[in-house]
Amino acid sequence: MDFLILFLLYMLLVLLSIPFVCFYSGRKQSFPSRLATSVTKVFSYVIPSRVQGAVQRVLRRLFHSRNCLFMVLHLVLEALVYGEFSWEVFGYCQELQFSTLFLLFPYFLLTVNVGFFILCSRTNPGTITKSNQALFLHVYAYDGVMFEKGVECSTCKVRKPARSKHCGVCNSCVHRFDHHCVWVNNCIGAFNIRHFLVYLLTLTSMAASIAVLTATFLIQVVILSNMMLGHYTDDQGQEHPVDAFFVIQHLFLTFPRVVFMLGFVTVLSIVLGSYLCFALYLILTNQTSNEWFKSTKYQCSCSEPYSRHGGYKNIYSRGVWGNITEIVTPLMSPEKKKR
Ligand SMILES: [Zn+2]
Ligand SMILES: [Zn+2]
Repeated sequence: MDFLILFLLYMLLVLLSIPFVCFYSGRKQSFPSRLATSVTKVFSYVIPSRVQGAVQRVLRRLFHSRNCLFMVLHLVLEALVYGEFSWEVFGYCQELQFSTLFLLFPYFLLTVNVGFFILCSRTNPGTITKSNQALFLHVYAYDGVMFEKGVECSTCKVRKPARSKHCGVCNSCVHRFDHHCVWVNNCIGAFNIRHFLVYLLTLTSMAASIAVLTATFLIQVVILSNMMLGHYTDDQGQEHPVDAFFVIQHLFLTFPRVVFMLGFVTVLSIVLGSYLCFALYLILTNQTSNEWFKSTKYQCSCSEPYSRHGGYKNIYSRGVWGNITEIVTPLMSPEKKKR
């Protein structure tokens, strides 16, 4: 069972690292940076200052500047999962006479996903510049709490429209800023959130469909071999009826790569599925991730007057259908509509 424990620890690491990277990337003082600063402070007498500087430069480059590292990692992981699926699972499933349509479904999802991945990373999310700032200033009303009228961005010196935010990674203000996604190496804003949602939906479906196919294949193997009806002899020479732990161990030894991949795509399905549900909740209530995060802070503050009346009130919701429409066809300034 040593391998099983190691595998479960690996899964736990994957489970923790995915939201860790998703939630803390793109923030000015991200958790990894603060952690690195604290650690280097503690070891400042042992670690040479040159090494400390190098660590901070690497972290800054990873999390605070646009780079392709996570895009490459994303493509490598996708290639590894699809490589293993095509090389082993696909062939075994064909031998077991699985439906061809069922087997080709992950490839269809992959095609759609790659298309939306490119769209998401190449589309301008709604970058605000001095020349186009007037187009965005009147799209949304200022709520006077989260977004104040007449505020100028201290970095790019544009007048900040309501619902915009300066992205420290892209070094620009973005219209209806949601978050900066390291996996597509772009900001998610008003003009590419629809692409991001399809990308997220297909990515979750890819992981889930491969997990379902692989699990079905392994269950079929167990059923067809009548494994559960057998017995095994332990180290002391005693005979026991086959149980679930024995089956898992046996499958590990027979199909190690397949079981390893199944664990990975299962964890990924849970993490991505949860994030997709959160993203859909934000769409239906017309909030961005940035606004949701800020609103939780306002609700906690007892000194602010609006918290006495039940917390921050979202003024941007236009009903479920209106909110969905706003994602599909982003709102533009009234001036532009008239043209
Ligand atoms: Zn800015
Ligand atoms: Zn960005």
